Amino acid sequence: MNDHVLITGGSRGIGAATVLEFARAGYDVAFTWNSREDAALDVVQQAQALNPGGRFVALHADVSDSAQVNAAVQEALQQFGSLQALICCAGIAQQKLFTDLTDEDWHRMMGVDLDGVFYACRAVLPGMIRQKYGRILLVSSMWGQTGGSCEVHYSAAKAGVIGLTKAVARELAPRGVRVNAVAPGFVETDMTAKLSEKARAATEEQIPLKRMARPEEVAGVVRFLASDAASYITGEVVRVDGGMAM
Ligand code: NAP
Repeated sequence: MNDHVLITGGSRGIGAATVLEFARAGYDVAFTWNSREDAALDVVQQAQALNPGGRFVALHADVSDSAQVNAAVQEALQQFGSLQALICCAGIAQQKLFTDLTDEDWHRMMGVDLDGVFYACRAVLPGMIRQKYGRILLVSSMWGQTGGSCEVHYSAAKAGVIGLTKAVARELAPRGVRVNAVAPGFVETDMTAKLSEKARAATEEQIPLKRMARPEEVAGVVRFLASDAASYITGEVVRVDGGMAM
């Protein structure tokens, strides 16, 4: 029987690359989308082409709404019977001076990038505890480790994801659940596509590997951490940043 994984934010970017990475590895994949059903259906088609025998399900959920996250998890469980892994990729970013941040900016960022992770973990854990087996992978960010200028709310949410990773890892390790995070630097996705040519060149100059990551380069690390090759790793945050934050 295939392992089953739920991926939030699987319609685009790192999440979409992760869906395809797990499809290639033989997992059945349920993933969520929020605004781009077209992109989600395209990812289902690509996954099905990679693994015609696999099951791929796109589910709508705004991760900042706990009821929608609970419903997506229940639907994934209904379809697959169990979930061996949860991967939280859904996220938003916003650049703004700290003093210009509104209450709404702050709460929206926390709602999607931190509350969404809390809701998803809380919803999958009872099943993982019952089956004494689970892997959770959370996508944080380099800015959650180093702090990003003009991205204070994003950095705070992503630092929160790191704290959550370590605390849940400690609490659930005795129950057979491993919890790890990745901290990407700059990745070629819609999130970074709005960088001007000049800003992009300046950014790449600061990265020791002199280029941004491809989404597949993050997805590969996520899959390693979810695999039995990483069976003794929990509570870890793996930088995937071309050396930028070292
Ligand atoms: P992206 O290409 O903009 O994709 C964002 C994904 O999140 C999409 O699938 C989107 O769904 C989903 N999403 C956004 N808001 C949502 C919400 N309220 N509820 C549910 N899903 C929602 O972004 P990305 O670059 O792949 O980023 C993925 C993760 O990596 C994020 O957590 C981000 O913070 C993190 N990260 C990215 C970078 C980078 O340089 N790109 C660096 C470090 C960390 P729709 O397609 O339906 O809108």
